[in-house]
Amino acid sequence: MAHSSILGPSPSYEDYTRCIHCGLCLNACPTYRLWNLEADSPRGRIQQMFHVFQGELSGTAQPEARISDGFVDHLDKCLDCRACETACPSAVEYGKLLVHARARIERAYERSWFAHVARNFFFRDFLSASHFIEDAARVLRFYQRSGMQAVARGIGILKLFGLAERERLLPRIDDEFFFNRFGSTFPPVAARRARVAFFTGCIANVTFSGLNEATIRVLTANGCEVVVPKEQSCCGALSAHAGFRDAARELARKNLAAFRLDDFDAIVTNSAGCGSTLKEYHHLFSADEPEHTQARAFAAKTRDVTEFLAGLGLIARLYPLRHRITYQDSCHLLHGQKIREAPRKLLRAIPDLDFVDLPYTEICCGSAGTYNVTQTDTSLQLLEEKMRHAQSTGAQAIVTANPGCILQLRTGVALHQTNQNVLHVVELLDRALVGETLSS
Ligand code: SF4
Ligand code: SF4
Repeated sequence: MAHSSILGPSPSYEDYTRCIHCGLCLNACPTYRLWNLEADSPRGRIQQMFHVFQGELSGTAQPEARISDGFVDHLDKCLDCRACETACPSAVEYGKLLVHARARIERAYERSWFAHVARNFFFRDFLSASHFIEDAARVLRFYQRSGMQAVARGIGILKLFGLAERERLLPRIDDEFFFNRFGSTFPPVAARRARVAFFTGCIANVTFSGLNEATIRVLTANGCEVVVPKEQSCCGALSAHAGFRDAARELARKNLAAFRLDDFDAIVTNSAGCGSTLKEYHHLFSADEPEHTQARAFAAKTRDVTEFLAGLGLIARLYPLRHRITYQDSCHLLHGQKIREAPRKLLRAIPDLDFVDLPYTEICCGSAGTYNVTQTDTSLQLLEEKMRHAQSTGAQAIVTANPGCILQLRTGVALHQTNQNVLHVVELLDRALVGETLSS
């Protein structure tokens, strides 16, 4: 990283020129696989970013002068799945380059008035305040439970406004929000082996309370004391990936203050997307900023729940589950955190489980943060292919490691009527703790 600003450190000349144009990343890139266009490949995007920021790197020109509609479009179409990083022999840190480019775009590029207001509200205000999330969830829950949703779908009004596909992506809102558990401590069932802080995400607290409860049950059953720190906030991933790096830095500061690192053996999360960002908190701050050292220590303590449990070792008894399942790698676990074996190891620990590999599991399902909302058509194209592969396995359930992927795959099950369950790894472990089978 070259120099810092209010947006944190910027990439250096070498960060871009590390790309040797070998093209080994092309076939790993979902958008290149779809369109065969160099401009929508990792190599092409790196070249465009380098070209646009050349002035900034050499200190000779205002970079914003060359942020064109085409440049923004090619970067907007990137899923930030980071599959290109895994494929790259030259260790190009594509994710860092993209986050920087999007931050520059956000400051210099004029979007429509509506897009500007909506994006600012969502990425700055909404995600940082639990009361906004809870209020919106209550409204949505009323829409879903009162019969309005069924009526809106039935009379086709959503189609009329072009919202039918997006509406399908809405998660079911929980009856009870996990925010109510903030500040709680859960004792281990067996003798204590570790004390962990549970990072629970933001929107997941109103849509994935069941997953969070399952995570606590699995951790406590395996000898962990679980603390849910009260003052925690959204991790900042969605904001950083959308270009609101200053908002992401603010959220990171809140979390650095909310978790007292000496109190815990690890900070555990069940969201691969959040974990990937938490483990890179130090990328948000320059080495000369006071938060940098603290962010490094925070990152070093962060563990995905599958990584943590696989490392600790399971001691709780698991009952047999006689199901065929397959596993979809979450991009920000596989490519962002380089974790491949841990979830597979945990799944293989469940007696009688028939685990079949999913073809092209390393390719994104199209969820990618808010990509399924902003680039719905592309997202649904990727999802269609994913569901075809998932069906080819004959699996009764698709297991994954990230709430966003779960939502996307559940949408895929509904759209393509595959009648499969979609669960997180810890939800399947939770079922194995009591021998609860899946519905067919
Ligand atoms: S992050 Fe994903 S979509 Fe973007 S260039 Fe890399 S592989 Fe392609
Ligand atoms: S694999 Fe790496 S070095 Fe090769 S073209 Fe892609 S980003 Fe560049």
